[in-house]
Amino acid sequence: MFPRLSIEVSAFHQALQKKFLIDSVRLEIDRTKCRNCGTCISACPNKIIKRGHPDPAPRNKSDKKPVSVLLDAKNCSYCGTCAYLCPYDALSLVVDGKKVERDELQLVMKKALPRLVEEEVTLKDGSKARKFMDGYLKYDKDTCQDGCSMCAEACPTGTIVRYSMLKSTYSGSSPTTGWKLEYLRHQWGPEALEIHRENCIQCGACAFTCPVSAMQIVRQKINAKGEFQDPFWPDTVKRLLDYHTQEPERVSKKVAKNVK
Ligand code: SF4
Ligand code: SF4
Repeated sequence: MFPRLSIEVSAFHQALQKKFLIDSVRLEIDRTKCRNCGTCISACPNKIIKRGHPDPAPRNKSDKKPVSVLLDAKNCSYCGTCAYLCPYDALSLVVDGKKVERDELQLVMKKALPRLVEEEVTLKDGSKARKFMDGYLKYDKDTCQDGCSMCAEACPTGTIVRYSMLKSTYSGSSPTTGWKLEYLRHQWGPEALEIHRENCIQCGACAFTCPVSAMQIVRQKINAKGEFQDPFWPDTVKRLLDYHTQEPERVSKKVAKNVK
């Protein structure tokens, strides 16, 4: 089915080229927005998006951290499903140098993809993301042995907060806060985590970055309404919901570093 979609979209793309004289179409990733969550990997019907290095993605161009996801442009059918479902608006389909807005993607206009029911959330750094997935976060504190806090660094929404952040935020404040901090430190060690589940948008960035798989997301629902193409959308939903069972395909640090 996925190859069929690829052929259909490619044929559609060729027809568009002839009819509207399109010169170029490409998929672009803004790595200053990408949070390395992996939603696009599950969303892609052609499986052409691969994991980069599991470090939290770089926030600016001078940051030397490894890249996030890797795109295989040769096999992309330019359907835009990944761009439609990226919670951080990091992916764009660009036709003749102009970004195609999500609602103007052909798969949306032709009702292959339904409208997402989403809410805008503000991230720790003040930028915006979209919440359209429901589920819950599983944190296994027995598995979380060394309190590395990579999940807290990766989480853009402030759902996971590490003890040192709490301490710098609350030091010198009320006795209740002091007791709470002591409790956290006693229970979970010096790098204790506090989890604000109500902030979670089920993106998965924490789950991928955790080196011992102590943090997992369990997606239960993708919120959407309106018409859709069966089986394209149900299959897409299934891949998104299966996120927690998918073993991420990672590439070596060396390969990741060489990707633009
Ligand atoms: S879906 Fe996640 S990993 Fe993919 S481009 Fe968007 S932020 Fe990056
Ligand atoms: S899944 Fe939730 S807790 Fe994990 S990084 Fe995304 S928003 Fe943060």
